[in-house]
Amino acid sequence: MPTKKTVNKPEAEEAPAKKAAAPKAEKAPVEKKAAPKKTAAEKKPAAEKKAAPKAAAKTAAEPAEVKTVKKPAARKAPAKEAAAEKPVRKTAKKETVKAAPVEEAAQESAAEQAAPVVEQAAPAVEQAAPAVEQAAPAVEPAEEVQLPQPRRSVAFIGSECYPFVKTGGLGDVMYALPKALIKQNCDVKVILPRYRCIPQKYQDKMVYRGEFWMNLCSDGRSFYVGIMEYVWDGVVYDFIDNEDFFGYGNPYTNLIDDIPRYCFFAKAALAALNYMNWVPDIIHCHDWQAALVPVYLRTLFNGTSVASAKTVFTIHNLRFQGVYNIATIKYWTGLPDHVFSYEVMKQGRDDANMLKGGLTYADRITTVSATYAGEIQTPFYGDGLDGHLRYHSDRLRGIVNGIDVEQWDSSADKRLAACYNRETVLEQKRANKRALQEALGLEVDEGKFVIGLISRLTDQKGLDLVNAILPALVDGNTQVAVLGTGDAQYEESFRNFEQTFKGSVCAYIAYDESLAHRIYAGADALLVPSLFEPCGLTQLIAMRYGTVPVVRETGGLKDTVQPFNEFTNEGNGFTFDRYEAGLLLDAINRAKTLYFTQRERWDEMVRRDMDKDVSWDSSAVQYRNLYLELKP
Ligand code: ADP
Repeated sequence: MPTKKTVNKPEAEEAPAKKAAAPKAEKAPVEKKAAPKKTAAEKKPAAEKKAAPKAAAKTAAEPAEVKTVKKPAARKAPAKEAAAEKPVRKTAKKETVKAAPVEEAAQESAAEQAAPVVEQAAPAVEQAAPAVEQAAPAVEPAEEVQLPQPRRSVAFIGSECYPFVKTGGLGDVMYALPKALIKQNCDVKVILPRYRCIPQKYQDKMVYRGEFWMNLCSDGRSFYVGIMEYVWDGVVYDFIDNEDFFGYGNPYTNLIDDIPRYCFFAKAALAALNYMNWVPDIIHCHDWQAALVPVYLRTLFNGTSVASAKTVFTIHNLRFQGVYNIATIKYWTGLPDHVFSYEVMKQGRDDANMLKGGLTYADRITTVSATYAGEIQTPFYGDGLDGHLRYHSDRLRGIVNGIDVEQWDSSADKRLAACYNRETVLEQKRANKRALQEALGLEVDEGKFVIGLISRLTDQKGLDLVNAILPALVDGNTQVAVLGTGDAQYEESFRNFEQTFKGSVCAYIAYDESLAHRIYAGADALLVPSLFEPCGLTQLIAMRYGTVPVVRETGGLKDTVQPFNEFTNEGNGFTFDRYEAGLLLDAINRAKTLYFTQRERWDEMVRRDMDKDVSWDSSAVQYRNLYLELKP
């Protein structure tokens, strides 16, 4: 295990921390916030602390400067051997770690075994070899692919990424977009927290890349930053390791814990780039958990090497902003006073809004559909930031999400009862439907119209509308399969419906990646009646699996589902506009009418949906062009 130097803990650390960190009484239990968990730094034996006595005097304004640690000898060891050397996690909390909402049985693509293309700047210090999967000896020279020029390097910074950890669409995008950007001649490094809940099989493949101590808080308190690396499919994943912040629970617990951990993460990600001497052309940050990256970059990291990078900030969901009282955020970030002004991060009387700070400092702001880019500039969808977004609208644009068409491929999906393509869909979908009905305890009858709903169970997703109409849906010919977790009120209501309509309604209250695949394949239609939907991926996956979406015309749902036109026989699904239960019921009834009375036209739509391009290809080109605007 490599040794590490430490910086001295500043004298009298606890007292000022308590004072500065005291959150607003109505928001958080003062004690917890005010007296953060004992840090690894604090737990260091005294002898070790002496190692760098002067460092304590350093301010957070020197974040990129790190203490060089004793380096492991440079090795070309295979992943397994390298992994054995990784530093053991420190001081695990006793708390039971709830299974994370991650893909346990990730389909490891053939590419995982192939040699990834790893091109990156040589690190300034000797480091462990990254965990590059071993290359099979080349048999035939690969066909030469012309990549667009010039090459650009991009660091993705975000809080989740399939298959390591995923709670929703952000996890999908963090996985699929880097892969698509590689085909656009981008060199991509993805920086993530090393959560304890990441499945062991991935933890085992990570290789120690280095470590340092970083000043974080306004009182100069410093924290351990470890970097663990895993290279897969051409993408380099660097995991920021710190047991105190990421060693317990699921990625998102509550703001009391989440605010400090993502303050730490944003700064550590930038410091890690400097440490690895890998200065990308573009730093692409995602959602509030990474929103402080542009703020740090243009303040405390000014003058360090990474400051030459341009930043893109993507809003995946404006609902979540990372808002907390200024005193707490000021303490945890060590950011200068001027960023706590209304123009930058201040909100209301004494709150700071981390997402707002990211929007202020990013060179470009994107969101995940053109319609949502317009919507968030209005009071209804703007979640309090519409004015700020209108002010910065010259830097804002929408680029619609795609899906990874290898991950979502009905012709090779091992989880399905029967794989299918556009030629075999009609027959094989029936087989998948029967298997699904059997698995979920629904009456097995391929003649029934099966409606799927795969969703976080929250107000955003239009579930009050579904609750209002569900009894009217169950007419003897229709079945409903719900898969989701979330707000107790919806979990409860769907369970009740299952009891009331046994055999016709199933409520599977869980996060289950495998079942999600089987519902996409076995259902005839998929409901997405969201109140707002930045992009939405479930309707894209549904179409790819020949399942007709029924959606509300908002955000990305509006941009990706063309309403069925009975006169021209065009369109991909059924839509409604105003947020009303009656309109949702009407849209579902139109779908059912077509299904039961004009099956050939329904079947044509199924094939049209499967033919639709829902891949990342064209959106990745748009991101690349955006990067080139910033770094021609
Ligand atoms: P959001 O990000 O708002 O949750 P998206 O439609 O963008 O919604 O992405 C949802 C992703 O999460 C999809 O890949 C969907 O299949 C998946 N998903 C949502 N709920 C579940 C669940 N309970 N089990 C398995 N997958 C789920």
